[in-house]
Amino acid sequence: MQVQEAGGSEHWKRVKKQLRAELGDDVFTSWFARVDLEEHLDGTVRLSVPTRFLKQWIQNNYNDQLMGLWQRECDNVHRIELTVRGAIRPRQSPAVKQSLAAPSGAKPVMAEGRADPLAEAAQVTRAQAATAALGRGETVSDSSRDVLQGAALDPKYTFETFVEGESNNLALAAARQVAAGGAVTFNPLYLHASVGLGKTHLMQAVASKVRASGRKVLYLTAEHFMYKFVTALKSQSALAFKETLRTIDLLLIDDMQFLHGKQVQQEFCHTLNALIDGARQVIVAADRAPSELDTLDDRVRSRLSGGLVVGIQEPDFALRRNILVARVEAAQKTYPQFEVPEAVLDYVARHVASSGRDLEGALNRLVAHNQLTNQPITQEMAEMTLRDLVRSSEPRRVKIEDIQRVVSKHYNVTKADLLSARRTRTIVRPRQIAMYLAKVMTPRSLPEIGRRFGNRDHTTVLHAVRKIEEMARSDYALAQELELLKRMLDA
Ligand code: ADP
Ligand code: MG
Repeated sequence: MQVQEAGGSEHWKRVKKQLRAELGDDVFTSWFARVDLEEHLDGTVRLSVPTRFLKQWIQNNYNDQLMGLWQRECDNVHRIELTVRGAIRPRQSPAVKQSLAAPSGAKPVMAEGRADPLAEAAQVTRAQAATAALGRGETVSDSSRDVLQGAALDPKYTFETFVEGESNNLALAAARQVAAGGAVTFNPLYLHASVGLGKTHLMQAVASKVRASGRKVLYLTAEHFMYKFVTALKSQSALAFKETLRTIDLLLIDDMQFLHGKQVQQEFCHTLNALIDGARQVIVAADRAPSELDTLDDRVRSRLSGGLVVGIQEPDFALRRNILVARVEAAQKTYPQFEVPEAVLDYVARHVASSGRDLEGALNRLVAHNQLTNQPITQEMAEMTLRDLVRSSEPRRVKIEDIQRVVSKHYNVTKADLLSARRTRTIVRPRQIAMYLAKVMTPRSLPEIGRRFGNRDHTTVLHAVRKIEEMARSDYALAQELELLKRMLDA
């Protein structure tokens, strides 16, 4: 039934090529690798995407750019429609899978389309993280009727598989207490820690346990909450959405730092108040303490700080080693002959220092190596296999040059433009964004940032930082854009 104008796909190829050039590989891959051309007829271009989240995101952020590029190709194009592909449609071709999985040019997909575990373990890029976040959103259907479904819980994330240590015992105790039910004591429970330290694991452990006891549980990432709310508003079902939210016994919001937008925050605040006043439990996790969540409205922040706020610190050696031992035991259920010598456990625990996620990555590589080569795990082999993980476990520092490079690429201006005195709008905004990012992502002082941006005065930098902060508060698309840039930078 689809009528394709002759040559339509050639146009689409060129539009994509241009988009990739304008956005850079990572951004392009995150948002456009899964967009397909369905139809190009009578000036209407119909594109399809796999999730509603993606549809919304592209509409909010890239609509004008897409239209501009299509019109450059064919000047009769006057309408771009985005549709969500039905579940029956065959999944992506291997070529698409490959470009999704390998945004940095590596090829983790083997000829027959099976993932290569070694290469995959080596591949953790920002774009993938973003895509994975979207993927989680896909598991939930969107009408407000289904709001109680929430995101799927990972059955691996239970209290039994969570390893206790000095850095997480308080968080674990609080989570256990909440999961046990009874009187609501800590409300909300706010967990904060940097990435990979077990927030999601703990939250899902609570969620699974409470759900098993028959109570209504909703686990959502903040992005997902935002998206559901926005969808409900559009379909005029916001009221139903709000009411449904208020009947929940346990609401868990993960990655709170991504909650943006004034209206969404207001709504979240109302929900929070309603739930807490109704003695229903709320758990929130974020990568920083409430006081540092500077994108959040003051009222939300203070409400969030009103319960119990617990941090999880970086794991010490003992905890890292215990997590590894637990992982080895889990792997042995599938691969009974898999053995890791004590000395190698010590080595990995000592050198892969930063988070549960890195430890898991390290172990997956050892398993994969062992399976693929049938060689026993030795110290030498571990050193070889984990070389880059060991290096990357040193804390990553964002440099001003990186910010300038990423920002100029993203907005398609040159670095010289950013440093120049030119006052064109298309340059001023990216420059202000870059200065803002330099302030929030590096320890550099305002005068120093000024010097690095073409010898500007520190008051200019301050003005830029305030301006962007202020704009991001009311401009949802800009707030998302900043988040995306930040994620690209601390890849
Ligand atoms: P966060 O949400 O804080 O970024 P996750 O909960 O996703 O971190 O944890 C990352 C990975 O590390 C998960 O696979 C998780 O199971 C594992 N992990 C982190 N801390 C622990 C722990 N204390 N015990 C067992 N596994 C852990
Ligand atoms: Mg998490």
